Amino acid sequence: MPQKKNNLILCVSMLFTAIVIIIAIQYSSTKIRDKLNLELQNTLKLAAEQNALFCEKELATEQNFLRGIARGLPVNSASQKDALIDMLRPYTELYNVKRLGFIYPDGTAYTTDDHTVDLSSEDSFKYGMEGRAYVSDVIDDAIGDTEKINVFSIPVYYQNGNTVAGVLFAAYRTEMFLDLLNLDCFEGQGYSCIVKPYGAIIAASESSPFYKQKNLFTVLEKLGVKLTPDKGSSVSGNLTNSGLAVCHMPKEHYLYYMPLDSSITNSQWFIITVVPVNILNKHVIQVLRYVNLLLFVVILTLAAVFCYYLYSYWHQKKMLTTLAYTDPLTGGDNYACFQKKMQQKKGTSGYIISTDIYEFRIINNTCGNQKGNEALIGVWKTLSSSLKEGELAAHIHADRFILFLKEQPDITLTERIDQINASISQLAVELNTPRIMLYLGIYPTDAPEDTEKGYGCANQAKHAIKNRLTQNYSYYEDINFQQHLEDLKLEYSFEEAIQSHRFEVWYQPKYSTKDESIVSAEALVRWRDKDDSLIPPFKFIPLFEKNGMISVLDEYVFEAVCAQQKKWENEGRKLFPVSVNISRSSLYYSNIVEKYSRILQTHSLSPKHIELEITESAAVNNNEIQTLIDRFHETGFRMLLDDFGNGYSSLATLNQMHFDTLKLDKSLIDYIGDENGEKLLYHIIKLAQSLGLKITAEGVEHKSQFEFLRDLSCDDIQGYYFSKPLPLNDYQSLLYSGA
Ligand code: C2E
Ligand code: MG
Ligand code: MG
Repeated sequence: MPQKKNNLILCVSMLFTAIVIIIAIQYSSTKIRDKLNLELQNTLKLAAEQNALFCEKELATEQNFLRGIARGLPVNSASQKDALIDMLRPYTELYNVKRLGFIYPDGTAYTTDDHTVDLSSEDSFKYGMEGRAYVSDVIDDAIGDTEKINVFSIPVYYQNGNTVAGVLFAAYRTEMFLDLLNLDCFEGQGYSCIVKPYGAIIAASESSPFYKQKNLFTVLEKLGVKLTPDKGSSVSGNLTNSGLAVCHMPKEHYLYYMPLDSSITNSQWFIITVVPVNILNKHVIQVLRYVNLLLFVVILTLAAVFCYYLYSYWHQKKMLTTLAYTDPLTGGDNYACFQKKMQQKKGTSGYIISTDIYEFRIINNTCGNQKGNEALIGVWKTLSSSLKEGELAAHIHADRFILFLKEQPDITLTERIDQINASISQLAVELNTPRIMLYLGIYPTDAPEDTEKGYGCANQAKHAIKNRLTQNYSYYEDINFQQHLEDLKLEYSFEEAIQSHRFEVWYQPKYSTKDESIVSAEALVRWRDKDDSLIPPFKFIPLFEKNGMISVLDEYVFEAVCAQQKKWENEGRKLFPVSVNISRSSLYYSNIVEKYSRILQTHSLSPKHIELEITESAAVNNNEIQTLIDRFHETGFRMLLDDFGNGYSSLATLNQMHFDTLKLDKSLIDYIGDENGEKLLYHIIKLAQSLGLKITAEGVEHKSQFEFLRDLSCDDIQGYYFSKPLPLNDYQSLLYSGA
């Protein structure tokens, strides 16, 4: 929960940061844009001013050109008019003017194109006579062919210098005038025009919409543009000041108007500079592009950081989920995952099955952990591949697995378990390990969501059949709780029983077939309960084999037998070898050989007085056991293969393992009387003898059995026919009394 809250806080703060950054960028980009716009307008003003200056300069140049010509003109009397015109003539070509002319004070004008006209009503004349230079608007040529012209005029003074002697004028064709003004600007993309305050167009760039138009305001009106004046100026039909307007023609343009120096023209002219906004905006756009790019990069970075965060969060979560719900060994589901999945099975009926591998410790101890792991993985594969729809499996730990199986229409649960066990026992062959077999406890349930309870009950069912070779599965409802409790009681009292020497060693003598005399004995343990009753081995040996206590008990019996033999030896009695059982589980304690040798040494007893019995099941397919047998041999013990023929029969064992004696199990002896059984017994005995093994027959109860075995040259007989296992005193009496 706190993790979720943290994530929410992190997300919100990241979002907040992102918003703040975006707003900051937006704000600063607006500021930059405004600032740049202002700069832009200033640039435009500057450009317009330069344009105006340029125009003024051009106009002044033209006037200066007239002033230059005026100097030295014979103006004192009209009689010199021809000479004056002759002097002017070369300049028309030189300066590309339509005509030059001189207006005498009476208004009569003489021109270089030989016209004599009365210009007394013209402004050029009036201004000139007042001593002022003048530039006309675009006017129709009043002399010669009708053409649009602009007239420049200056007063010319008598030589005394103060009185105006007349007016010198130059008439330019309007196109020429335009050339002079060179009104294009901004790399040809902008244009200019010169207008009178009321809008009359004096000159305009050819590329402009004002070219050859009469009135600026009419054109602007057509374009739907209204000039917005700067403070204090008015443009509604009359330009008075400078100002800026935005017009769409159709592209957005800035239009800047400003007055020209009126002292040049002697009338109020305005210069209009029009520039497409995007030209001016070029830098702004560039900057804005960078700003946008920056914005984009920031957003992208934030998005990337956010995505990365989400990804790593998701990845981490997935990893944690994997760790939490995956079994590291099998890669499949673990118990937590199983429980979680079972929650979703509410209302489904089925079987919760707890299972583990019979004596898995043996596989681990004899074949190594690596092989053990391979076996577990193999078991997992078998289990998980046997699942049908809606069923589950998980590895809990060590050799424990859990299953949830459902009733199937075509196969019973028992059949399925048999199939699973069949495939699993195949694993042992594939992996070359001792037998792999599953024990399963089955708990039928209608409430799979209560997995804990189901698993507990399935476990109890499993424990109830542990170590019963005849059955490998059990239903919870079949549990013998009485038995279960008894087992628990025995486990509980074991420690105390060992301390208080409640375990007694009984001896069952073995007899020679040759002369029916005692040749040796087997030590068999009995548990004397507090009420003096005897608990037989089948009640506690399998139990202790399961929980590992057996190794303590085996050692206890071994030590007791050694002590007893030594005692008899010290008493000067003849010693008969006694065989002591070593359980499979005891064998897997690595230092067993050393331990047993040490006990022998402690009692200063020769190993020839003690024999060791190892059950056949422990010896099958087991190289480690072979090594142990060899090491026991090296110490001097004789080794007996116990219970041969009891379920695990493997004739190969006889050859592979270096046992000294083969003990035929009672189940084989019971074949005697049956033809085929006898044949089998015959061949086993012959084979063992051919391998140099001594033969002891166990569980011989009848004379016929004894005789059959004797006839096959079986060496020794152990069985009720001769004697049951005897308490120490009885055995001692049997051995020594009467001897
Ligand atoms: P085992 O080692 O095969 O011992 C022989 C068992 O066969 C003994 O049973 C013995 O009483 C029984 N038996 C011998 N002759 C006859 C016969 O003619 N008829 C019948 N019906 N039974 C006969 P016991 O003493 O009950 O022991 C059972 C098993 O318990 C032993 O089988 C052995 O595996 C185990 N055991 C006994 N003592 C020890 C011990 O100290 N350590 C270990 N690890 N196992 C022991
Ligand atoms: Mg035995
Ligand atoms: Mg036996």
